[in-house]
Amino acid sequence: MCAAKPLDIVIYPADVLSTPAAPVKDFDDPLRELLDRMAITMYAASGVGIAAPQVNVSIRAAVIDVSEDGAGRYYILNPRIAWKDGEMPSEEGCLSIPGYRDSIQRSERIVVEAQNEFGKEIEIRAEGLEAVCLQHEIDHLDGVLFVDHLSRLKKDLFKRWLKKRSEA
Ligand code: ZN
Repeated sequence: MCAAKPLDIVIYPADVLSTPAAPVKDFDDPLRELLDRMAITMYAASGVGIAAPQVNVSIRAAVIDVSEDGAGRYYILNPRIAWKDGEMPSEEGCLSIPGYRDSIQRSERIVVEAQNEFGKEIEIRAEGLEAVCLQHEIDHLDGVLFVDHLSRLKKDLFKRWLKKRSEA
């Protein structure tokens, strides 16, 4: 892989993070270069997933790697959740909201239909951390952040945290 530098991560709040992203139509070299650079950005930030809007590109593309050795990377383009089952609490953070973590509910098992970086149809069956990560990144492509899933009370706490952050 080329020695590309990490991209800048867009920090909340920003319009691109709350805008539904456009479908990917061209599965070309520039797309694959973007995905590779997103991966570099994700690893540099110790993330397990990153979505294109987080690097200010509003397309339906994300990188996932929940492995411990960094060998489990894959790319999902135009993903959709085809099936889901169960519910589990999920303690989450987001590279676009550094320093904030909270617990929300996610589906425990999911099936995602998507395309890979060459446009080939793929299906991912996932559970636990991988299922949570996929839901988090697919949410990003719909302009949804994990804090949007917080209860009203927790949302108030988040707003207070944001206010404090902006004053710091
Ligand atoms: Zn995120």
